[in-house]
Amino acid sequence: MTSNEFFHPVSGFDLPRFAGVPTFMRLPHVALGDPRLAEVQIGLIGAPWDGGTTNRPGPRHGPRQLRDLSTMMRAQNGATGVRPFELVNCADLGDVGPNPADLMDSLDRMTAFYDRVRAADILPLTAGGDHLCTLPILRAMARNRPLGMVHFDSHTDLFNSYFGGTRYTHGTPFRRAVEEGLLDPKRVVMIGIRGTAYDMEDRDFAKSVGITIIAIEEFHARGVEDVMVQAREIAGSGETYVSYDIDFVDPAFAPGTGTPEVGGPNSFQALQVVRHLKGVNVVGADLVEVSPPFDQSGGTAFLGVSIMFELLCIMAQALSERG
Ligand code: MN
Ligand code: MN
Repeated sequence: MTSNEFFHPVSGFDLPRFAGVPTFMRLPHVALGDPRLAEVQIGLIGAPWDGGTTNRPGPRHGPRQLRDLSTMMRAQNGATGVRPFELVNCADLGDVGPNPADLMDSLDRMTAFYDRVRAADILPLTAGGDHLCTLPILRAMARNRPLGMVHFDSHTDLFNSYFGGTRYTHGTPFRRAVEEGLLDPKRVVMIGIRGTAYDMEDRDFAKSVGITIIAIEEFHARGVEDVMVQAREIAGSGETYVSYDIDFVDPAFAPGTGTPEVGGPNSFQALQVVRHLKGVNVVGADLVEVSPPFDQSGGTAFLGVSIMFELLCIMAQALSERG
């Protein structure tokens, strides 16, 4: 399978990478109403919403900053040799328009957007936004059958409620997703969990439904390769979503996020874990929780788009091998 030239990104040899309108990875912008939408196979989407944030805010500004830094991405993956833009048609589908003053309305707007993406048979790669954005995406992507999930994060995001009964925050999306039948818990693995905790309620829930948690101590003891062999086994051959919270990475490398936790993987390991997803049937992915107001150097957003590029390579490979 080869892509249509219309969907190739602008090369830095034709227009310097600091110039031009910054779409994701310098791809063409194809809005949902555009007739070219029918040709798109992977859609890069911004979800500029952080209405589920309970601590330091700012991921609503993530997509714009990630688009800007994504102009640094070139056409070829230096480690794996993959040239994603030549394998499949990729485009920037623009931003989901949230309602910053109404949480439940924002969730519905996002699901409606991803319903249209799914109806067009496009695999979404989303830039958040906070982690609650993943719930409305899954509501569209996992309609009719539950998905597996590989989840990189320093938190499980499996809590039941915050502040005495608030059920929708960026700490609860996967509890709701399991309850709503969007995820098959036996095919869910959460990697990198660490930090201080309110209690173990989230981990007890994980155990009770069969979600696998690989805490950071185990991750460092076993190493990337061994952990990712197990992650691939858990995901199996079924349709799998990949959700990547930037706070998975150590705050020395990714300080620009709302809920950092020390003792995490370095920026090289942050890319490596994604490369080891080769062969997994990835039907969608996201990179969430980059908060530009806390990202003084822009380095967190740069790492974020580098992770998005790795995710894109895995998705493009999976799609082209499926034919
Ligand atoms: Mn998270
Ligand atoms: Mn987190």
